[in-house]
Amino acid sequence: MLKQTTYQDTRPTLTLVPTPIGNLADITARAITTLKEADIVFAEDTRHTGSLFRHFSIDTPLESLHEHNERAKTARVIEALTKGLACALVSDAGTPLLSDPGADVVRAVIDAGYAVSALPGPSAAITALVASGLPVEPHVFYGFLPSKAGARAKALSTLREMPYTMVFYEAPHRIQATIDAMKDAFGNRRLVIARELSKRYETYVRTTLYEATALDGLKGEIVVLVEGAAENDEALEGTDVVAHIQLLIADGHSEMDAIKRAAKSRKISKNDAYMAYHTAKKDLERKE
Ligand code: SAM
Repeated sequence: MLKQTTYQDTRPTLTLVPTPIGNLADITARAITTLKEADIVFAEDTRHTGSLFRHFSIDTPLESLHEHNERAKTARVIEALTKGLACALVSDAGTPLLSDPGADVVRAVIDAGYAVSALPGPSAAITALVASGLPVEPHVFYGFLPSKAGARAKALSTLREMPYTMVFYEAPHRIQATIDAMKDAFGNRRLVIARELSKRYETYVRTTLYEATALDGLKGEIVVLVEGAAENDEALEGTDVVAHIQLLIADGHSEMDAIKRAAKSRKISKNDAYMAYHTAKKDLERKE
């Protein structure tokens, strides 16, 4: 067992410091203090972090630590901690380690017996998730899918049965290809595209995979959120088709989407599901 009581601990600490994802005002007071008080800040891109430092008048020495030198730099972080130096780690934006470098260093620092602490702060994934309107719990943070079509399709096929909201990072030039691959893997599901969070042109597109077309011109930074597999679909198959459709509608699906989805999961024709649902609906209206 390894126990760390961060604020009573006298061991040298590596602190993971989140930085803004688009709006400099989102830096926290503790992030600024921690970066000012650190002896060394390891940064994904020292030039990028240098401008953040100038903005907040931080003059702590910066050293680079990026995906290509992380292994080599890990020894340097341990060396600094051995000398009793307070170390901080930042990435270009958001929370280090989340689709950013730092995981090897964190593991190595813990294994070497030093403390690792993280400050709460900005991350595109959580920001997008809580505003998406999709179920927040449970969720899965996936990060970037593989960029090659074959590997991406394989990764998506392993997620097909996942009943949790899934959060992906994606580059704008790959967005349509990724959505198309998601259609193939998942069928129709609710989809949210969260763009340019905390920036001037922040946009949320709340749609479905089937409706999402012509996204190729989309620019900026993007989080893609997809609803999980309907956990209840199997359980719903034990109910009659009308109840199945009604429950999907109550869960936020459009009428047409609910009909298609119920038909697909029950392996009946869309027309049969449609007829059953609308006949029941008319009966109900007549009785009212
Ligand atoms: N560590 C970062 C975090 O905590 O969010 C993520 C770093 S990852 C290299 C960069 C990706 O995060 C972008 O390609 C995009 O998918 C997402 N991202 C970062 N900032 C964003 C923003 N302001 N709006 C939407 N997505 C953003």
